[in-house]
Amino acid sequence: MKLLIVEDERQLSEVLTALLKQNLHETDAAYNGIDGEDCAMTGVYDAIILDVMLPGKNGIEVLRSLRANGNSTPVLLLTAKSEVEDKVKGLDTGADDYLTKPFAAGELLARLRAITRRGSEFIGDELRAGNTVLDKNTHELSGEKGTVKLAAKEYQLMAMLLSDCRRIIPKERFVEKIWGFDSEAEYNSIEVYVSFVRKKLTAIGSDLQIKSVRGVGYCLEVPEC
Ligand code: CA
Repeated sequence: MKLLIVEDERQLSEVLTALLKQNLHETDAAYNGIDGEDCAMTGVYDAIILDVMLPGKNGIEVLRSLRANGNSTPVLLLTAKSEVEDKVKGLDTGADDYLTKPFAAGELLARLRAITRRGSEFIGDELRAGNTVLDKNTHELSGEKGTVKLAAKEYQLMAMLLSDCRRIIPKERFVEKIWGFDSEAEYNSIEVYVSFVRKKLTAIGSDLQIKSVRGVGYCLEVPEC
């Protein structure tokens, strides 16, 4: 994986770099919020380790700006023990997880694995998560209580969510992918389709939930993904 470390404490940054290299990851380091955000916006990283207390721009501000600009790279926030409020703020802003300093190497690696775990991939003709299966050919969505057929746009929306489950997908990305760049689709069309799909998920007894992340987009909550 390619990881970005945004941490102003040089020593910690170096320890993290060495640890991640040992585990065969590629890393880049930024030492303040402004450089960190610039690097993160390139979108080339599989995950970002983002310290909260940073010079230039703090981690929460960096995260807010990334999410507002449609960057959905998984973010692991590093917080100090005293920064409880920051954890809450961070998670609300779109952090995927946080870790309190000091932390054990094993825990950092485990959290990184968890936040970068890819969503489901098509196995044969099916995309699966939780108790739910989406069939690529028939566009049928099946859960514990039954099967429904999805309309074309509903299918695309569900396939996007399933392929990237647990990650926040910005509304813009749905519009680009489902309606196309030139489309005049309003963001509220997405909301309409999301509500259709939610009803169908409930109808088939699915354990998946489409969660709205206000001002950003949607993510699929999966009991185990
Ligand atoms: Ca710091």
